[in-house]
Amino acid sequence: MQFSKGFIRKVADATNLVDLISEHGITLKRAGTNYKGLCPFHAEKTPSFNVNPLRGFFHCFGCNTSGDAIKFLIQYDRLSFSEAIEELSKRAGIPLEIESGSSRRANPDEDKGLRCLREAAAFYCEKLASPEGNFAVKYLGQRMVPENMWEQFQLGVSPDEWQGALNHLQQNKISVPDLLRTGLVKLSEKSGRHYDTFRGRLMFPIRDLRGRCIGFGARAIKSEDKPKYLNSPETSYYQKSQVLYGLYEGLSSIRKLRRLIFVEGYLDVIRLHENGFTDSVAPCGTALTPEHLKIARKYANTVVLLFDGDSAGKNAALRHAHLLLPHALESYIITLPEGDDPDTFLLKHGKTGFEELLERKVPALDYLVQQTIRKYPDSIQGRMQGLEELLPTLNEISDPKRRQISLMAIGERMKISADILAKELKRKANKNLFNKDKNVTLNRLSNNPNISQDEQWLLQSLLRKGELWPLVREHLYPEEFQTPQFKQLFAKLLQLPDAAFQAFDPLKLEQSDPELFQSVMLLLAEEIPSHDFGLSLKRIKERNLEINFQESILSSNSNEERAQAGLKRRKEEEKLKKIKQIFDNILTL
Ligand SMILES: [Zn+2]
Repeated sequence: MQFSKGFIRKVADATNLVDLISEHGITLKRAGTNYKGLCPFHAEKTPSFNVNPLRGFFHCFGCNTSGDAIKFLIQYDRLSFSEAIEELSKRAGIPLEIESGSSRRANPDEDKGLRCLREAAAFYCEKLASPEGNFAVKYLGQRMVPENMWEQFQLGVSPDEWQGALNHLQQNKISVPDLLRTGLVKLSEKSGRHYDTFRGRLMFPIRDLRGRCIGFGARAIKSEDKPKYLNSPETSYYQKSQVLYGLYEGLSSIRKLRRLIFVEGYLDVIRLHENGFTDSVAPCGTALTPEHLKIARKYANTVVLLFDGDSAGKNAALRHAHLLLPHALESYIITLPEGDDPDTFLLKHGKTGFEELLERKVPALDYLVQQTIRKYPDSIQGRMQGLEELLPTLNEISDPKRRQISLMAIGERMKISADILAKELKRKANKNLFNKDKNVTLNRLSNNPNISQDEQWLLQSLLRKGELWPLVREHLYPEEFQTPQFKQLFAKLLQLPDAAFQAFDPLKLEQSDPELFQSVMLLLAEEIPSHDFGLSLKRIKERNLEINFQESILSSNSNEERAQAGLKRRKEEEKLKKIKQIFDNILTL
């Protein structure tokens, strides 16, 4: 569903953010013009969650979550953007205005597919409770999965027959095309008849964040049944790279802990939840992908990856350490003792044993360095070879500050001096490290790892707040942008007169500068309401400050020079505070 910008603004304006947040059970206390409380997005004892009712924004200084009423519902209640708008309009008593022309009703195929899966999940559950499911009950007993876990994860069993689910679901008026689309039945080319995909298997319903069954993982019970695991096919609502098993079941504790433990299998997840590690998740029928880590970032600051102790497990751990490093997550690796998987480890050593194991987790960066060094001789030459191997992964860290800090950490652990490191970095920089300037036209924003989110937000709100331009000219320069496309875009926008932004009409650019027009439209097309301009500005400037500081520290040769750099940084920080105030004042007027 699409809403006009005007409607979104109307709904947001009609919402009292303090009331909305309080209604969600979060106690807010007045502090000046703002309100303060304990952050619902991370665990804390002293309140760092701030709500600004005038501007309709919240921000947590502890975990940096921030946004408006819509974002709050998206983050806290896990609603989609449209659902959040619907919820707020209902709350404010404003009738929904769906944009004509672009209005798309919910996909009817999707509704039918979800109904089909819901009925199937109920059917498999019933079978587990019936005498027909005895073989599965016996299996669960052997695997020592207690009954409360069957319920919590809504485990079921598919009957060991060719048309059990098919007949039952057809009786419930579910059509064969829906059954085919959701992958519950297949068509035999030989006989031309339909048959159940899942037969005689333990069924793990995979649920989305609203608790809806969107697919199944199915484990063979008889050892002769192959393959061991079968999974539902991907559909519009079930995309393997977007789903984590256990996330729905553990959501409330994950929100509190801001941590995720990644394991491989469904039964591992269940065993961990059983032992109180309810922040455990697993990818469904696929390896861990960067997309999964992007999801992880929404819920967690820390991720812990568990691997089996055999050589395959160790190789996987190293591969994953490379995968983890570019993401802004505190990430750790644990390798289990040889011969164990998380399930068997917990059965042997229990909760305390696992807690001890968790304490021995190794930061992904350290793991990466340790394992890489091991491959090469212990000499400067060897270490340089190792560094060479790590540089491409470092290259993928898009935030320059994090890249710099990681590089310094690696240098320290590999005992490579800052001098050599700086030279290496420069050499790489000349080659390709920062060479992303070539492609100046943007063609997508969402999930684009090469663009800075703050820069995007800043530009998006600038294009909507014409009154900021006279000040922006004074305080923000194109070279402060890190994303090349944004740098260029901002420089071009600066050439327009202030008056052009009062009632900004991007269509006027279509003829005069098609490239600029395209980029501006891309920024305006995303249905994101106003952002905290001052905050994004501050973070961009702070980031640049930090980079400049790190660079001058790296290139300074004496304590005196380093002290100078520190002094300069403190002065810049003071300046920055004043600039932030100027913008805050203008925005609260
Ligand atoms: Zn927080």
